[in-house]
Amino acid sequence: MEQSTSGKLPSFCEIALSVPLDKTYTYGLSEALCEGVQTGCRVVVQFGARTLTGVVLSTHSKKPTFKVRPIQQLLDDEAVLSPELIDLGRWISSYYCTPIGIVLKSMLPLGDEMRSRKTVSLTPAGVEAADRFKSTGQVQDPAVSLLLALRRRPLTWVHLLRKQEKSAQYLRRLQQRGLITVKEKQAMRDPTQSRDGILTVSAIANESSAGRKTKGEKWLLGFLRANPGSHDLRSLLVERKDVVSVARKLARGGLVELTVVRKQQQLNVQVGEINLNPDQRSALEAIRKGIEKDRFQTFLLHGVTGSGKTEVYLRATEETVRRGRSALLMVPEIGLTPASASRFFNCFGENIAILHSGMSGMQRAEQWRRIRSGQAQVVLGTRSSVFAPLSNLGLVIVDEEHDNGYKQDEAPRYHGRNVAIVRARNAGAVVVLGSATPSLESRRNTETGKYTLLSLPARIHARPLPSVSLIDMRQEFAKTGKSGLFSGELVDAVQGCINRDEQAMILLNRRGFSRFLLCRSCGNRIECNNCSVALTYHKNGQRLLCHYCDHEEPVPSRCPDCEREFLQFQGTGTQKVEDALNESFPQARIARLDRDSVRGRHDYVSILQAFREGEYNLLVGTQMIAKGHDIPNVTLVGVVDADIGLGVPDFRAAERTFQLLTQVAGRAGRGSKPGLVLLQTVNPDHYAIELVKDQDYQAFYEREVQFRKMLWYPPFTVMASMIVRSRVLSEAVSLSQELSASLHPLPKGLRILGPAEAPMVKLRTEYRYQFLMKSQEHKAIAELLTKARKYALEKEWPATALVIDVDPVNLT
Ligand code: ADP
Ligand code: ZN
Repeated sequence: MEQSTSGKLPSFCEIALSVPLDKTYTYGLSEALCEGVQTGCRVVVQFGARTLTGVVLSTHSKKPTFKVRPIQQLLDDEAVLSPELIDLGRWISSYYCTPIGIVLKSMLPLGDEMRSRKTVSLTPAGVEAADRFKSTGQVQDPAVSLLLALRRRPLTWVHLLRKQEKSAQYLRRLQQRGLITVKEKQAMRDPTQSRDGILTVSAIANESSAGRKTKGEKWLLGFLRANPGSHDLRSLLVERKDVVSVARKLARGGLVELTVVRKQQQLNVQVGEINLNPDQRSALEAIRKGIEKDRFQTFLLHGVTGSGKTEVYLRATEETVRRGRSALLMVPEIGLTPASASRFFNCFGENIAILHSGMSGMQRAEQWRRIRSGQAQVVLGTRSSVFAPLSNLGLVIVDEEHDNGYKQDEAPRYHGRNVAIVRARNAGAVVVLGSATPSLESRRNTETGKYTLLSLPARIHARPLPSVSLIDMRQEFAKTGKSGLFSGELVDAVQGCINRDEQAMILLNRRGFSRFLLCRSCGNRIECNNCSVALTYHKNGQRLLCHYCDHEEPVPSRCPDCEREFLQFQGTGTQKVEDALNESFPQARIARLDRDSVRGRHDYVSILQAFREGEYNLLVGTQMIAKGHDIPNVTLVGVVDADIGLGVPDFRAAERTFQLLTQVAGRAGRGSKPGLVLLQTVNPDHYAIELVKDQDYQAFYEREVQFRKMLWYPPFTVMASMIVRSRVLSEAVSLSQELSASLHPLPKGLRILGPAEAPMVKLRTEYRYQFLMKSQEHKAIAELLTKARKYALEKEWPATALVIDVDPVNLT
């Protein structure tokens, strides 16, 4: 409870609401509420005709000069956002030019699952009283109507508060008279915990595989085969909700062993089974020194693919926990593989919580509470885990820091890596950014002294990096006179791989079957009605699909423009590659990994796992196959069209291409057998492709940085994009021109481009006009964006008409 300096109870509070204005709103506190309301609690208020949930930013007793409405409901008995997180929200709001209410809303972990857990029920005296009142018909009295409601069944405290404004007062009185009891509802029981500790599961050697097995049983056995050792069941719960019952059933059949690990044992962090190599050791030493200083410091851990970064993360985390502080490990959305999660679980058992978007609300709520209560000092999660309620944060690790999955593509458009750094700075924590292909921004920061560079230049056990060769598809065409999908060299290599019982990955970073449908007669391409892009042909279901808005239509038999029948499929997607491989290698078992073959996280994990276990020879896929997988039997990586990313109208096109190709190349030869990578290209001289050959990040960095510097792009400037949208083309044009005129005079040192058609001029039925801003300083950008937002508010533009994106990663 907060009290004003005069000692009076506060009777007003300032609320952040998720509305476009940059201000807080004053609401009144009823007598019943003023004791319970704290900064960081959620409340429900009436806003105009709407009912909104907001966050309390402060309470006070300064009576405003205008009439205020009372708060309708208090949703939490304790703050869900700590002062530290509210501060972080303020920083996001100002840096990304987004109203604080919208920022805080996205920081709130959960909806209904997070409601107060107090339940109210009648005591025997209460039951008696309720029955008496019922017979006398005295139901008008609000206290009596509460009793009668409770006579039917126990209700939650928040539900009762919602019934009427003064419920809290009445309830308190009923409680004083001994008619009701208020209890904390039992937390959902965690099925992986027994009374004595945590359940772990491990395979039993020589398991007989006789008997029919369910899908879940096969999955668990497969997982244990691929990942020997004992595993905390909780880490698997994320993959399969039914894993506990599956494990128990297998244990009864003697196929797996369940062990209860005592809590005390678990707290004894056990990390050191693996001996670090000298590079790992010196990287860890530097990080450890940072941790010992208890001071904010940022490291960039640049380690080639397969250099053992995860092991360094583990030890640094261990060190942090040992020193009594908490640690956050962030991974990009899809990179969270059960194998690495499991390694963390085995080390930190009881002390780890996991947060990612594939979890149900209830699971997230449970994890959130464990973090909040201090039970879990280590959090492993995706982007939004940067808001995990950890206290005493000592270490933040951002794995694959270059990954664009860290950038949120709706308001607030924050970058998880950057927010993590700011959070660590506020907490005096150490940050480790890890990647084999660091973003230019992070790498540049090691040069200006903002970050400290640590490197792991070689693979574990001095395994060689795979050898990469470029296949010039122009020469291939000259030689064969055919423009086939695969060069002779790639076909031979795949065949060799199959013969040796090794595995290959084939990348084509485009899903679908054919890229578009072209009319040979009039040259028309069939486009999406909602977006300015060609529709992609998907063989599955014989339909044309928009990859931007998911619009879907049947394949026409005639050209909609000239009505002739000369429609032809052009270009290639992963489905066609899969078909072509099936044709060329009829004996091979082939799996595909892309957004069409993976509907949920679960498919993703099971396809990869089946591949890891050798159920398939070949795995075809989009960039999904390039992410951090460690599959020792993969000795060949083929890239069908290495040039795909180069044509994208974005100054980061070369960087993305280099990153993707280096990452996918890094999947080859991670085991004891050496790896080979074949890149098919028509641009073998482009530096983003040529330098992949030697996996020479440093050379790429030096080259790319020249280009950025010359053209005044990040990391030499701060950049922002502003898009004006409307369903009516003429309106999008005129609004963007009016806005442009209103922005002058421009802040000093700021350059602005546009308004011009965005590369995707039409997207999801809206026309889009774009401004790009560059400046040496964020301040000038913020000034301009604030001006633009103010203008849009004054002119009463719809909230969706102006999209602001600071440090955009997607310029289309
Ligand atoms: P990266 O993330 O850098 O690509 P990983 O952390 O996945 O690499 O490590 C690659 C493999 O090497 C993993 O199987 C890991 O268990 C193993 N490994 C890491 N460090 C060592 C070490 N010092 N000795 C032996 N094996 C190691
Ligand atoms: Zn579309």
